[in-house]
Amino acid sequence: MALRYLFIDFDSFYASVEQQSNPLLRGKPIAIVPTLNAETTSCIAASYEAKHFGIKTGVPVRQARALCPNIQFIQANHDKYVAIHNRMVETIHEVIFVDEVLSIDEMYGRLPPKWQKPKKARQKAETIKLALKQTIGREITASIGIAPNRFIAKLASKMNKPNGLVLVDYEQLPEILEAFDLSDITGIGARMQIRLKSHGITNVKELCQAKRETLHRIWGSIEGDRFWYALRGISLPEQETHKRTFGHSHVLPPKLRSTEGAFSTLHRMLEKACHRLRVEQYFTSHLVLQVKFGFEWRWHEAIRCSPTQDTLQLSQLLNLLWDCRPKMAPNPTKVSITLMGLIHAKNHTPSLFESAEDRRRAQLQSIMDQIKQRYGNRSIYYGNAMLAQKTTEAAPMRIAFNHIPDLTIESDQTFAKTPTQTTSPKPQGLDWD
Ligand SMILES: [Mg+2]
Repeated sequence: MALRYLFIDFDSFYASVEQQSNPLLRGKPIAIVPTLNAETTSCIAASYEAKHFGIKTGVPVRQARALCPNIQFIQANHDKYVAIHNRMVETIHEVIFVDEVLSIDEMYGRLPPKWQKPKKARQKAETIKLALKQTIGREITASIGIAPNRFIAKLASKMNKPNGLVLVDYEQLPEILEAFDLSDITGIGARMQIRLKSHGITNVKELCQAKRETLHRIWGSIEGDRFWYALRGISLPEQETHKRTFGHSHVLPPKLRSTEGAFSTLHRMLEKACHRLRVEQYFTSHLVLQVKFGFEWRWHEAIRCSPTQDTLQLSQLLNLLWDCRPKMAPNPTKVSITLMGLIHAKNHTPSLFESAEDRRRAQLQSIMDQIKQRYGNRSIYYGNAMLAQKTTEAAPMRIAFNHIPDLTIESDQTFAKTPTQTTSPKPQGLDWD
């Protein structure tokens, strides 16, 4: 009996942060939206009170209002969410070692052998809950799952939301999972569901009853075996994952839904992506541009280059791609930029043709990065990004599913790290009760 993993999933995270910071919102149905006064947008999160009316992530604002006429919409404040997230991680880290942060509201830790018995593991989870209540506030609750492997611990965290604490041990596996839908299980997307169905597996019970060889055949690789073991609480050594892309995407606010607005926003996002590239010491060799024109028309174009982290070189490539856009399309409504083909600096061979000019430019960009880190992203930027920079809403920092923004790189506000600073800044505007 060894409960090795403790998985933490915060409940309705964005909405509960808003309820924590504003007591008037507590106990009320609220939804977080990217921008206020835009009927075409969708909810990016909902409070538990709103969830009772069927409002969840992705529900359009108009529909949310129809489901719950009293709903209050709150504009997302990503800087605040990241600041709270940093403080949460710090708080949890004081109780158990946080192995990995998976998203803004999900993280897990490994329990050392002396804490792997149910009583001790439960105690640790309760200590985490208490510490969070004292440091972050009582409105922001977490559901905790404890299990022999990370996969089951994550499922356990979903079994009794909100503010849950569920232990799942070997003897309950895999039968306890039968209440889940296939789509709740990490690693089973829409395509895998079709494949499973073609082998007669339509629910979790059938998945759990399937033989290891069957799953091997369905997955077409050792991944199927890995999955069979995971369902039974067995941890196989994890495969090393590599960073594969840097990207930003942004729904344009009405004032930037023009050729110039989209172009400038793309340049602004490219600058951010290049900054991250340099901070994390990667080079890119593949730039992908995606634009949605109007509400239907999607267009994308890509270009390859020799590995680089030079904003100017990538800007020129962006301009080339932009020139290929469909000219008769409606106004752009959404833009995305992705840097792919990443090579880490330690595996990168510098070009034989690097000129003194290239080196001077690299130096200049490093100085620009330092200025941005110290004085914020708006302090210095290239001319192409000017229109977007001057429009406050353009490409603000966003929290993607698997990427927690670094406030010192991506926020428009100044979150400069000083050499002596070891803890993240205390988030402002919260009611610290
Ligand atoms: Mg959550």
